[in-house]
Amino acid sequence: MDRRDLHRRYMGAAAAYQDHAKDCPRCTRYHPGPQCAVGTRLRESADRLQDTYLNTKGPK
Ligand SMILES: [Zn+2]
Repeated sequence: MDRRDLHRRYMGAAAAYQDHAKDCPRCTRYHPGPQCAVGTRLRESADRLQDTYLNTKGPK
């Protein structure tokens, strides 16, 4: 997979969580983070994409 594409997806997933946390009465954008099932799922998918991105070698 193209690293820039991966970066775009990771930023998109992170933004999806931030958007959720803004509207969710339980989740917070930063610490302690996700407090509901939807937020947890969004956060995990963003973290996984970030890990994949950081472990992918290639141009920045
Ligand atoms: Zn939430």
